[in-house]
Amino acid sequence: MEEELLRLQKEAEQDLASLTEIKELEPFRVKYLGRKSEFTGLMRLLGGVSKEDRPRLGKLANEIKAELENRFSVRKTDIENQLSASGAESTSPDLTLPGRTIPFGKLHPVTQIMEEICSIFEGMGFGVAEGPDVETDFYNFEALNIPKHHPARDMHDTFYVNDSLLLRTHTSPMQARIMENQDPPLRMIAPGKVYRRDSDITHTPMFHQVEGFLVDKKVSFADLRGVLGAFISKMFDDDTAIRARPSYFPFTEPSAEIDIGCVICRGKGCRVCKHTGWLEILGAGMIDPEVFRQVGYDPEKYSGFAFGLGVERIAMLKYGINDIRLYYENDLRFLSQF
Ligand SMILES: [Zn+2]
Repeated sequence: MEEELLRLQKEAEQDLASLTEIKELEPFRVKYLGRKSEFTGLMRLLGGVSKEDRPRLGKLANEIKAELENRFSVRKTDIENQLSASGAESTSPDLTLPGRTIPFGKLHPVTQIMEEICSIFEGMGFGVAEGPDVETDFYNFEALNIPKHHPARDMHDTFYVNDSLLLRTHTSPMQARIMENQDPPLRMIAPGKVYRRDSDITHTPMFHQVEGFLVDKKVSFADLRGVLGAFISKMFDDDTAIRARPSYFPFTEPSAEIDIGCVICRGKGCRVCKHTGWLEILGAGMIDPEVFRQVGYDPEKYSGFAFGLGVERIAMLKYGINDIRLYYENDLRFLSQF
């Protein structure tokens, strides 16, 4: 009897020590302290032991039971306290903590400048059209007066898909696509991605261009100068100097590179403008009559001008960025500044 009681005590203490969860408490209580427990069964057997042993064993049994009840109640309180401590965070929020800020995205600096360029030209009555990135050789070159084996093709380091398909090297193909389907007067810009096999501090294999053109009767170089002047003064400053240098593009005649007075040093000379005081900003010219013939316009009746500008280039000048690759490294420390 005594052995049984002590064995049961030892077993109960081991079980009690291994209790960790609230759901384990009740089964333990039923097993060791309930009315049908082994312990209760042993207590009942006390009636059958000899009179000499009964008081001693009764006392022992009561002590063991009281001790076990006491330890169980302490353990139960411990487990319940632990649970409410760990649950406190989720059930009752600490209102003194600073709030969590919601991260929100911004437009990429190139997208921002692209939208600004488009809105300036839209303000002057230009429509916006977008074309395919994968272009045919015809629209990218031939329709723009660059036949096969023309040396001007060397100016474009082209990604070819196959003999007749390529990644467009400029947004000018939209000029031919639009003129083919619409009659003058036309005032359009075509923004988008273009691709060339080139990569260094001022070139990336993919960059953005905005092509623009205007076709009507009696359009002159003065109109071109006026439209670009209005654009540049809106994009930079009212007093930004402009000059046109003779240049060559197969699809315009005459052609010009348009420079602006350096926006960094204001013409005094700095590293960005290579100490010339001028920055090359876009290419432009009067549309070549041969391009008009390709799309069925009468070059005797209509004239027009076209221009193409690099969006990254303008963003670099506007924000004072000296490495074009920063735009595409996706470093949030850089991108979040705009
Ligand atoms: Zn400068």
